[in-house]
Amino acid sequence: MKPAAFDLLRAGNADEVVEALRGRGDEVRILAGGQSLMAVLNLRLAQPRALVDLTGCADLREVRKDRAMLVVHAAATQASVERRKELRGEVPLLAAALPWMSHPQIRSRGTICGSIAHADPAAELPLVLATLGGEVVLRRARGRRTVAATDFFTGMLSTARRPDELLECVRFPLAGADTRYAFTEFALRHGDFALVAIAVAENAGELRIGVGGVADRPVLRRYPRLDGSALDDALNELAWSLDARDDANLSAQGRRRLVRRLGRRAVNAARETTGIAGRTA
Ligand SMILES: Cc1cc2nc3c(=O)[nH]c(=O)nc-3n(C[C@H](O)[C@H](O)[C@H](O)COP(=O)(O)OP(=O)(O)OC[C@H]3O[C@@H](n4cnc5c(N)ncnc54)[C@H](O)[C@@H]3O)c2cc1C
Repeated sequence: MKPAAFDLLRAGNADEVVEALRGRGDEVRILAGGQSLMAVLNLRLAQPRALVDLTGCADLREVRKDRAMLVVHAAATQASVERRKELRGEVPLLAAALPWMSHPQIRSRGTICGSIAHADPAAELPLVLATLGGEVVLRRARGRRTVAATDFFTGMLSTARRPDELLECVRFPLAGADTRYAFTEFALRHGDFALVAIAVAENAGELRIGVGGVADRPVLRRYPRLDGSALDDALNELAWSLDARDDANLSAQGRRRLVRRLGRRAVNAARETTGIAGRTA
């Protein structure tokens, strides 16, 4: 199928993006890498009057460290962040998760912020941002606001973003000196969305376990350090709390089993410090 006709506005900077959005509600959609949006338009699930393309905005391509955060602006592609030499030291969980996401060709067009804005519950980047306690910065003509990732994702493909807001940048907390990380997932084929994805961040005082692909948004749980049967019990309780559903790919029971198995594997991987767990369930 082909999309309904739309006007294409090519913005030259962030000011022009927010100006194009002002007062036009859902009539205008932002076009970033187009890797999710074009499918939505082709299926006519949305029929905006206009798209505002931000890929020509040099001021939105910036990726920089700012105090304790890695700040990734809206036009920075997933590949450009993945290629960043310092990434493994800066945000190890993001470095571990990116290769699981789709394919290199898609990551060369898709943006970090576009994935966060799209808010697919099985996507890797919303899970990483929520697990790390990151933030999104939303900008409109009259100012900016900062929203914690855990408040930003409000349901299946839905977020706290208002229609006239540009997701200007996302802010990933830099690695803590004493914190270890791991990411793993199970998908039917390499590059597919995860059926279940697990992200772990652990230091001496806290174990964070994030789960994607099961609930309608990434889910984060925080625990004190857990071992042995206490960890198994926590993972079992977590698996049951997610309201898993049967679908064409996997039963609810299968999803709960993956949460328990991959959860245990990711916690072990974080403790062994490789930081990246294996693929198979
Ligand atoms: C074959 C295939 C496999 C894939 N596999 C995976 C996978 O395994 N895991 C995964 O996570 N993703 C996967 N994807 C999705 C892909 O990663 C997209 O790149 C990503 O979801 C969206 O990024 P984008 O820059 O292309 O955004 P777009 O498609 O341009 O936009 C997506 C949505 O976000 C909005 N938007 C984009 N940027 C902003 C912004 N700055 N502010 C406000 N709103 C904005 C758009 O208006 C649109 O509604 C796959 C895609 C394909 C085609």
